[in-house]
Amino acid sequence: MGKLRASFYDVIVVGAGPAGATLAYELAKANIKVLLLEKAKLPRYKACAGGITVRTANLLAFDISSVIERVVYGARWSYKLDYKLTGFYERPIVYMVTRDKFDHLLTRRAQDAGAELLDNQKVVQLETRAGKVTVSTESHAFVTDVVVGADGANSVVARGLGLAKDFYYGVGLEAEVYVSKGDLSKWDSLMGLDLGTIPGGYGWLFPKEDRLSIGVTGHIRFNKKLRPYLKRLLESYNLENCQIKTFRGALMPVRKKGTPIVGDRGLLIGDAAGLIDAVTGEGIYCAVRSAQLAAAVIMKFLAGGLPDLQGYKKAIDDELMPELRVTRALAIFITLMSVGTPRLFFKLAPENEQVWRALCRIVRGEKTYVSVKQGLGRFQFLFDLLAR
Ligand SMILES: Cc1cc2nc3c(=O)[nH]c(=O)nc-3n(C[C@H](O)[C@H](O)[C@H](O)COP(=O)(O)OP(=O)(O)OC[C@H]3O[C@@H](n4cnc5c(N)ncnc54)[C@H](O)[C@@H]3O)c2cc1C
Repeated sequence: MGKLRASFYDVIVVGAGPAGATLAYELAKANIKVLLLEKAKLPRYKACAGGITVRTANLLAFDISSVIERVVYGARWSYKLDYKLTGFYERPIVYMVTRDKFDHLLTRRAQDAGAELLDNQKVVQLETRAGKVTVSTESHAFVTDVVVGADGANSVVARGLGLAKDFYYGVGLEAEVYVSKGDLSKWDSLMGLDLGTIPGGYGWLFPKEDRLSIGVTGHIRFNKKLRPYLKRLLESYNLENCQIKTFRGALMPVRKKGTPIVGDRGLLIGDAAGLIDAVTGEGIYCAVRSAQLAAAVIMKFLAGGLPDLQGYKKAIDDELMPELRVTRALAIFITLMSVGTPRLFFKLAPENEQVWRALCRIVRGEKTYVSVKQGLGRFQFLFDLLAR
């Protein structure tokens, strides 16, 4: 736990994941008095595959190479657990990190910029009175002008502000698997991706320095199928007898159009706002970007240049939601295809060089989902229908 200096802060950020740490960094850099409250003792484990896309790394204001464990250039694809092909790209597509180290780096950068951090402090209650918010943990109370929920999928801030009650939900299960050096070296610059086993869901193998992150994800309605799927995925990689150190699951909320994320004296960023790519489950890009968009609005608000925080909702709706709506439509399309014509779906996606390269360019930030939609010309309306 950090040292407590005062109980009033311009901004209190709840949750020290990528969203909260980025916001604390941006605000502290602008000399705003900011407190970052985190329920866990840092560094902490987070159920995550730890894939940082190149576009996410490019968003961050500082270098993250000290926590990058592998650089991925390609994917080994399987269809219903049966190996099909390996696709490569000429430049890096995803950096592999472990979330304890990555998130800790981000919080340290926020502290270096001047943010105060208190870990081991679970926020339990919010109370808004006379334009100020009292944020209570199990042992302290703090007062602020603006509170930000960066506290993930089960956000206590969202409940306290009466926001974000309406999401679509995905679920992810992750196992950290310790394997021999020989097994590890097979995945040096490659990730494994399995399609078609669960409609619309997928399995992954992401290599780290000393272990593999292996997991599965799918719509919440397939929740019960995920554990057996993960077991079969491990078998398909001949890893069923390896040492599994951590095995955890987590919800992946996806915001619906219009779901409220801004209140009178607070707002939500990252997973708390449901800002997740519905196709890949990538959430760290939006966590970082939503924090940056929130920082700009909060700074103007505190300086008296804005009457409220609604500008943040507009920024999210203008910049991130058009992309996320296309991912939602694609996720529905993929689910329908993988139920109806799974083999055709595989032919249209990874086996198709153009689609593979487009995917690589999206995760590198060189292309957008919206441009893919626009490429459909007069059939674009199909995306809008699916993502309603
Ligand atoms: C299995 C799985 C695999 C994934 N893989 C990837 C991937 O490879 N790449 C990717 O980009 N995304 C991935 N995601 C999504 C990604 O993990 C999230 O989108 C990302 O962590 C969101 O960041 P955040 O800062 O909003 O929330 P989080 O990272 O969840 O951080 C929230 C923080 O708030 C703290 N907190 C919660 N409640 C309180 C409270 N009451 N008081 C104080 N603190 C609190 C938590 O302890 C936590 O530290 C994956 C998700 C899952 C479930």
